[in-house]
Amino acid sequence: MFKIYIDRLEGDRTEKINITTDSAFLDINEKELCFNDSVAIRGQAEMQNDFLILRLQIETVYESICSVCNRLTKQKLILKNCNFCIPRSDIKQAAFDFQDLARQAILLEIPAFLECNEGNCKERKNVEQFTKKPKGDTHFPFANLRR
Ligand SMILES: [Zn+2]
Repeated sequence: MFKIYIDRLEGDRTEKINITTDSAFLDINEKELCFNDSVAIRGQAEMQNDFLILRLQIETVYESICSVCNRLTKQKLILKNCNFCIPRSDIKQAAFDFQDLARQAILLEIPAFLECNEGNCKERKNVEQFTKKPKGDTHFPFANLRR
């Protein structure tokens, strides 16, 4: 399901990615972090100068503990610019499996601080030191390679 067949991208072809899958592949089920919803991955794959370029948007829902009131809360996770650049020489097989990349991208974006009620925890006024949750959904670890 997470496989990109490299030979299908030859001749400047792009391949659309449109996956909705069970969150089991994330292999996370902790008391303070769990995924019970499906994971949707959309985007495209193409070859550019011997690099496999994946541009993905990943959406899922996770449950974690509100940093303010300590209750379990559901939170949407949307990674809009989840881009990867993989050298062709690193791809030893006919297909590249991006399951691990998708998993890591999701786990990296789970914020350290989470607040229930869409950032307006009712108990917040009691704990004002947590003012903002960290922002940022751009993920391009190999940005330099594109210049
Ligand atoms: Zn709360």
